[in-house]
Amino acid sequence: MATPAKIELENLPIIALVGRVNVGKSTLFNRLLEKNQAIVSKIPGTTRTNNEGTILWQGKYVKLIDTGGLTFTDDVPLEKDILKQTEKAMKEADVIVFIADAKEGILPQERELAKRLRQMKIKPILFVANKVDSAKLEYNLNEPEWSRLGLGEPISVSAASGRKVGDFLDILFQTLNKTKRRPKKNSNEYDEAIEVSIIGKPNVGKSSLFNKLIGQDKVIVSDLPHTTREPHGTLITYLHNHKKHKVNFIDTAGIRRKANVASHLEKAGIHKSIEAVENSDIILFVIDGNEMISSQDRQLGGLLEKRSKSIIIIVNKWDLAEDNSDKARNETKKMVYANFPHLDFAPIVFTSGLTGYKVHDIFPLILQAREARQTEIPNSTLDHFIKQATRGHKPARGKGIRQPKILGLYQLNTNPPIFEMIIKYRTSLHRSYINYIENRLREQFNFFATPIVIKLSKLKR
Ligand code: GDP
Repeated sequence: MATPAKIELENLPIIALVGRVNVGKSTLFNRLLEKNQAIVSKIPGTTRTNNEGTILWQGKYVKLIDTGGLTFTDDVPLEKDILKQTEKAMKEADVIVFIADAKEGILPQERELAKRLRQMKIKPILFVANKVDSAKLEYNLNEPEWSRLGLGEPISVSAASGRKVGDFLDILFQTLNKTKRRPKKNSNEYDEAIEVSIIGKPNVGKSSLFNKLIGQDKVIVSDLPHTTREPHGTLITYLHNHKKHKVNFIDTAGIRRKANVASHLEKAGIHKSIEAVENSDIILFVIDGNEMISSQDRQLGGLLEKRSKSIIIIVNKWDLAEDNSDKARNETKKMVYANFPHLDFAPIVFTSGLTGYKVHDIFPLILQAREARQTEIPNSTLDHFIKQATRGHKPARGKGIRQPKILGLYQLNTNPPIFEMIIKYRTSLHRSYINYIENRLREQFNFFATPIVIKLSKLKR
């Protein structure tokens, strides 16, 4: 079982919820915490009070505060109430979430609050329309009163039913990744098993490789399935540099079963392969080093496109190769990349599932790829990086006549790594320039065996 998370709960980024009473602010507050309640209660030192709590989303922690609602009663002068709330949010929060009610629409007092928030300028504001319980209610948001607030298009959710709350959390964390105090990673995450699958057409040697892999002295195979997640796999613990690393080999087309009964009756198994690929972080893509690459290989290789998986290409049966020189290997590599141009980031290893040649190299590569998937570059480093990269090589124009300008680069996600590059409104960037940035990122940081996604967005400034 996983040990309790050891995390630094100090200095977490803070999200402040603002809005008037009755817009469903507390429901959203509870929903956001509730979604993760099981985990929250297990985190040592986590407090959950009426107006404060910790959220864990996709392995990262942030703190949520409820600033208290605007009451709109006569007891407290409204002006004072608004000021109190905005000041509190201003002081503490890294991101402000302004919540309005999609059923009731925008009230005058909210216009006032929105105006003040807008004037602050400094902090990112997420504008949320709550009570959007159905797709039909989304139409309400087309009313001009929503856009007139000047906070952009509202993000719709239903706190009561949970509708689109996950989407909202995604946007929230993407926004937070661009703030100074970024969400903290759950350090326990590293102890979780990494999901690996071995794919390749029949007879390339998948089962043989798998047997050699789990037959090493450094490997402990555990019989108990550690997870209820489908499909089941073989969980192993690999000892490397005095550390234990867990790897779960997802059972692709019955490698385990087949190894046991030594049957050669495997079908193409495309279906199973898709499932395995989707459930993995890292794929070992096996091809036969003594055959021409066939359409079946290419079909399997095609499955790996645009799925953001780390990939290691294994050229197996290398014991049969007539020529084991560097030159022969380089020729083979060239041929492989020519057939799978979309896998140009994947390292190639030459192995023999029969003799065990270089099979020992595979585990360290898996660990290296796992580390690469976790690479997280601080905003300040990225800022320096992009300035340097653009200084050396001016952005190339895509469509249009205006000279593009890169305004910023942010890492939105790890495992897999996703970046957002912000360019000036009404300009476009040539594809080759995005490749250039990707290559520089690869040179300067560890993205071993891992595809990098760079999304473009345009900003008016
Ligand atoms: P799978 O269908 O991809 O799982 O392939 P298997 O592991 O069942 O291997 C198919 C055949 O190739 C078997 O006869 C293996 O003994 C043989 N084989 C597997 N790996 C190698 C290798 O590296 N070199 C040689 N010469 N034969 C291999």
